[in-house]
Amino acid sequence: MTICITDIHVRHFALPLEPPFRASWDHQVRTRFSATLVEVHTDAGIVGYGSGDSMYGFEQFKHLFVGQDVSQTERHSDVLATLAFHYARYWPLEIAIWDVLGKAANLPLFRLWGGHSHRVPAYCSTGELHDPVQRKEEVLRFREQGFRAVKIRMRHEEVRRDLAVVAAVREEVGETMEIMVDANQGWRMPGDTRRPWDVKRALQVARELEHYGVYWLEEPLEHANFAGLAELRRATSLRIAVGELNRSPADFREFVSQGSADVLQPDIVVCGGFSLGLKVAHLCEQHGLRFCPHTWGNGLGLMANLHLAAATGICPFLEYPFDPPGWTPERRDFILADPVLVSKDGDLVLSEQPGLGVTLREDLEQFEVQYP
Ligand SMILES: [Mg+2]
Repeated sequence: MTICITDIHVRHFALPLEPPFRASWDHQVRTRFSATLVEVHTDAGIVGYGSGDSMYGFEQFKHLFVGQDVSQTERHSDVLATLAFHYARYWPLEIAIWDVLGKAANLPLFRLWGGHSHRVPAYCSTGELHDPVQRKEEVLRFREQGFRAVKIRMRHEEVRRDLAVVAAVREEVGETMEIMVDANQGWRMPGDTRRPWDVKRALQVARELEHYGVYWLEEPLEHANFAGLAELRRATSLRIAVGELNRSPADFREFVSQGSADVLQPDIVVCGGFSLGLKVAHLCEQHGLRFCPHTWGNGLGLMANLHLAAATGICPFLEYPFDPPGWTPERRDFILADPVLVSKDGDLVLSEQPGLGVTLREDLEQFEVQYP
């Protein structure tokens, strides 16, 4: 049976944030959180959902998809790649198309995509800069909630202050939790022109972090500094994690061929969709690298990356953005009927609901805006 796309709607929503969220990687305090929803309507009456990139300007390209058979996913991904090259990252559309296919097959996407497992360990990905005493107390609470791993952000003016947080957390949790550290040097928010670390700086920090048994050091250099990352990786015992916003499939090839990384972190709702995500997972498997998708967005994007991670069975930890009160599941997943929660043993567990398995909240209209 052929199912054809009849229309595509792009809707924008915004949630006011009071108290605001102070993202460590942003030079501006965040007082609202925006989410874009892509709806793919079909002649079978099935509607698929995707979210991630903001999809600005997509209307002019809708005709490239309307009337097409949803099952030609590699064709759709190729078309989206041409748009990503010339315009923007319209990858949430690819996820919405897959949501249709999952619903049509009456299978959750993780089963359609490989079905290795229905659960993936989550790591608690913090987002703010907190002092050592506050952070170590919070991490104890995260552990009580089930988390077996936590990610700490580095972005104080003085790197000693960041290292003090890592030291305090390690002292508090001992060997009971893994600790990841995110240097956030890979890219900058719009308007932020601060230069990233260079190899020497990153190596100084890495040498310090080696004392604390850090599981990985994330984005210690600019996102396409393949040779620098390789040099750093050879010089430190820490795993190097990269790739969260790399836009080109060729970047992942370079990470592997130049020996730049131990952990690859594609995010399928902002780069390459499921099509690229699966190829990167295969690269990781073939080259003995960790596959740990990035997912700092809303719950729909989290679910898309979770289905891929579960399907492949090679993801030791999936990112779970969580840093209350600034960043809570209720805020992060405000477009969904229910927030995505972690089990008491720290796993993200998928249900047998078809497709992405998400339900939008009934009163979503109240958050709708023209542009976020
Ligand atoms: Mg990161």
